[in-house]
Amino acid sequence: MIDTDQEFKEKLITSVSHLNADTGTCAITTDDNWSFIVPRGPFTPQPGQTARFYGRGVGYTVRGLVIDGHVFFYESVAEHHARQVREQQARLEAERVAYDQNAEPREARIQALPEPFRRRVRGFVRRAPATAWRHQDHEIVICQAAAAIHAACPTLDAVQAFVTLQIPEMLERVPLLNDLGLSGNGFDAAVRLARYATGEGTNSPVLIERDHHALCPLFGCQQVGCAALEAGTWDAAVAAQPASGADT
Ligand SMILES: [Zn+2]
Repeated sequence: MIDTDQEFKEKLITSVSHLNADTGTCAITTDDNWSFIVPRGPFTPQPGQTARFYGRGVGYTVRGLVIDGHVFFYESVAEHHARQVREQQARLEAERVAYDQNAEPREARIQALPEPFRRRVRGFVRRAPATAWRHQDHEIVICQAAAAIHAACPTLDAVQAFVTLQIPEMLERVPLLNDLGLSGNGFDAAVRLARYATGEGTNSPVLIERDHHALCPLFGCQQVGCAALEAGTWDAAVAAQPASGADT
């Protein structure tokens, strides 16, 4: 297979460093100034040798490395894909098991949320119980952040002032954010919910329960149990609020 594999790029090794006698690994730098950690192989690479990297290139995993004609490691495209699928399945299974094992502490976190946030989380779980393990911990964290932001910034003006702060100032104002480790998207969602909680202008706490799940753009409303699924029983226009909506 490796003989017919044409998806590779060859580079000249310009230096070798960080040789670890225990693990047999070392770092090679190539003539395009990229560095790569080489696992233990048939010999220690040397400057001047040619390294052939198999894979799709920058931004993708290197699935094979051959130095001066000697294979250090190699997977065909099919083998590489199959391993990625296996590893993804194992990660998801571990997530599902962890979700079941953490039922008690999770329930305590939901109970500790203010009422509209609690209803928001419960709604997602009720509408999509089978996939709750995959999506709802993320939403609980966002609701915790939103409730903490709301507690520190109960008015719309205060929320608007909060989002103009530098990150260290934000963390000082709402220390819980430090522990929650939100992504940028998660933070935006938390701020949006905190705005709803003020009830000022076009914001209403009712929207906390009705707005899209933070993961709707990634997985779709159906899979995450989005409130938009119940739009028929609510004011459809409100339930279909875009993720970036209610900014005023
Ligand atoms: Zn949605």
